[in-house]
Amino acid sequence: MGSDELSPESVDAEPPVPCGACRAALGSPSRKTVSFLLLDHLTVPVVGCEDHLEQFRAVCDLTTDGSAQLLSHVPAGGVPCPGCRLSTHGTRRALIPVAGGAAVVLGCPDHQSTIASRFETGQRTRRQLADDFDSFRSV
Ligand SMILES: [Zn+2]
Ligand SMILES: [Zn+2]
Repeated sequence: MGSDELSPESVDAEPPVPCGACRAALGSPSRKTVSFLLLDHLTVPVVGCEDHLEQFRAVCDLTTDGSAQLLSHVPAGGVPCPGCRLSTHGTRRALIPVAGGAAVVLGCPDHQSTIASRFETGQRTRRQLADDFDSFRSV
């Protein structure tokens, strides 16, 4: 007789997200809670509450000459990357802390890391802008 204990492999080791609305959205990604971030040629599914997704979008917006957009539905033409398209049903996801909450990037590993680094770049840009503003004031 083999033992068939429940394995804990499905337990996520993610840190708790401070925002309850984000947690609720992350807890049950579904067609209703998944939004789509349009950034340059990328269309990547993301999950989070409205507020934090908007913050996430605003930061990504700093990294493009165009504009980052957030759609609450599958964009016309669908998601071009098959890996990203399938990811809305999967469990693979990258949690990106956004002040006070989080945005979770679904999508294929490639595009998860692309978006994550764009967000980092955007945050640096924003800090830079804040620093410039500070030095401007102290003159
Ligand atoms: Zn939130
Ligand atoms: Zn992809």
